[in-house]
Amino acid sequence: MSALRRPLIISGPSGVGKGTLIRRLLGEYPARFGFSCSHTTRPPRPGEQEGIDYFFTTREKLQAEIDAGKFLEHATVHNNLYGTSFDAVREVQDEGKICVLDIDVQGVLSVKKAAARGLVHNLRPLFVFIAPPSLEVLEKRLRGRETEKEEDVVRRLGNARKEVEYGWVEGNFDKIVVNGELDEAYRDLVGYIENMYYSEEEEGEEEEEEEEEKAEKEEKDER
Ligand code: 5GP
Repeated sequence: MSALRRPLIISGPSGVGKGTLIRRLLGEYPARFGFSCSHTTRPPRPGEQEGIDYFFTTREKLQAEIDAGKFLEHATVHNNLYGTSFDAVREVQDEGKICVLDIDVQGVLSVKKAAARGLVHNLRPLFVFIAPPSLEVLEKRLRGRETEKEEDVVRRLGNARKEVEYGWVEGNFDKIVVNGELDEAYRDLVGYIENMYYSEEEEGEEEEEEEEEKAEKEEKDER
């Protein structure tokens, strides 16, 4: 698989602005990136579309598909089951695009475990953590969103604390983007992506050139 198609895994606590950053990235580079549409058992929020934001499903159906081995990872997040199917990733990769995943920290851990066990052959994802400037700022944003009930906000904040702790541990992510000011965070994210994928592209080209030179030399030697 081309290094260009390494999936980009974006994680971070609920309300940190992952979705906004991802939508902007996909909007600006539609030919280069595609979104891995996850499955979830949570009900759709107003405006969310089936097959675009999520595949909305039931716990029974999703669990059966997970048991059948169709999922790269899954996790219970804020009391609902979420998961990334192999098909969702493959579909984006088959279009020749870099697959962007928006998953929680548990999902990150299970992708890492699966990779360590050789189950995600050739996937080699890049892991990016979107961090809030502080937990207080995150709380304000989560409340300002007004999409969740109070008990859900409290649950999401509790989870956020643990996620942020994990996110800041050195080596857990390839890159940390602090989302204080959106434009700045977006530039930081794009800069990282350009750097990673662009330098890999060059590396790939260099390897190709080396191979071509080697083949030419062998041809000459044979003559
Ligand atoms: P929300 O319900 O706000 O759309 O998402 C809640 C959390 O679930 C977010 O942190 C998001 O990253 C995470 N999430 C969304 N899809 C998946 C998935 O397929 N797998 C995992 N592990 N987490 C997901």
